[in-house]
This record gives sequence, C-alpha cells and structure tokens, in this order.
Amino acid sequence: MAYAIPAPPVAAVPVVGGEPFPVHRIYCVGRNYADHAREMGHDPDREPPFFFMKPADAVVATGSKIPYPPKTKDYQHEIELVVALGKGGRDVPVEKALDLVYGYAVGLDMTRRDLQGEAKKLGRPWDLGKGFDQSAPCAPLSPVSKVGHISKGAIWLKVNGKVRQQGDIAQLIWSVPETIAYLSGFITLAPGDLIYSGTPAGVAAVVNGDQLEGHVDGLTELTITIG
Ligand code: MN
Repeated sequence: MAYAIPAPPVAAVPVVGGEPFPVHRIYCVGRNYADHAREMGHDPDREPPFFFMKPADAVVATGSKIPYPPKTKDYQHEIELVVALGKGGRDVPVEKALDLVYGYAVGLDMTRRDLQGEAKKLGRPWDLGKGFDQSAPCAPLSPVSKVGHISKGAIWLKVNGKVRQQGDIAQLIWSVPETIAYLSGFITLAPGDLIYSGTPAGVAAVVNGDQLEGHVDGLTELTITIG
C-alpha cells in the first residue's frame, strides 16, 4: 500500500520472552482507587468508571530517560497496572472479559497536573494534561499464558528509592473484567488496545534527575529517569 507520506512507525511495547506487542489505542481509567479519589477531593463511592485517552505513540520503554515536558510546573507520576488486549469485542459480558486479555504490565500515567486542573475547572477536555509525548511509560508485558491474570498483589512506586505510592490491585474500585466489560459498551475494543487501570494514592510531582521504579507483584519492573 502506498501512502501520501511515509507511514508512521507502529508504536509497540516489548513482551517478556516474545515479539513486541503493537499498540492500537490507550484508554485510561480515572479515579479507580478510593484513597486516590479522596486525595483528589472526590467521594470514592462506586460511580460508573470514566475514561480518557493517550496517543498510542505516548508509550515509552523501561530504562528510558524522558525529558521534563513543556508548559507545566506540576508534572506528576501515577503508577498503574496496564492491561493489554489481544482480542477485541463489543458489549463483552463481565464473565467473558478476561478472554480478551493478552497480558499485563507496570505502567505510568504521567500527568501535567496543573493543565489537568485548569481543564477541570473550565469544563474542558483533559487531553493536554494527560495525552502528551512520552506520557505513557510501560514496562515489558507479561503474557497471561506465563503469569495468569492479575487480580491482587502489591503495586508501588519508588522515587529515588523512597516509596511514594503504595496499594494493592485488589483495591481497584472497578476490577479489570468489570472495566473491560463497561468500556466495551461504548466502543468496540480491538487487539492492541491498552487499558491503564488507575492509580493508588500518593501521586506527586517529579523533577529532573528523579529515578522512578514501578512495581506490581508478578510483573517486570519499570524504571524511568526524568530529565
Ligand atoms: Mn491515571
């Protein structure tokens, strides 16, 4: 197939012991841990989940140094469990939702919190606060065939060796299968889609030189340097 300009490269995430996983779209769940909902000034009652997106090419490999992004003075980390879909579907029932999952990874939903806050206040979209260059670091994916499904276990983020965020995957307000089922009612999910499942409490700003180390029990760790 010929295109008017050279076709852009396929964004991809490494797979532990396998070929890279091509990224189609990135969906992110907002406020999916009660303690984080509280720290952001919201009632953690079980309201329906809500979503925002990042561009596929916002993914960054582990071990990368990422530049401090422009137009922000409050660049923050959100450690998250990433769910990678190997199959698609629409109106997927909760009981069948895990059949879509190819694997899991540790990810960071990097956020320009000041831009997000301003957008919230003005009733505008969050895109420039959330979906910017290199805003979606993602560790190598572990296939379900090797590690099974992740429904519990520690999730934490250390910055310069100190724990900043800590929680357990079991604390997700909307579980992975519930999230997939709900989202598939709005759009047709496709192979290659990633879902960043939300962050526990402790989100905070980073500065140039910070070393970030993200962990979810059973998965490959994520390391990122700022600056
Ligand atoms: Mn997030």
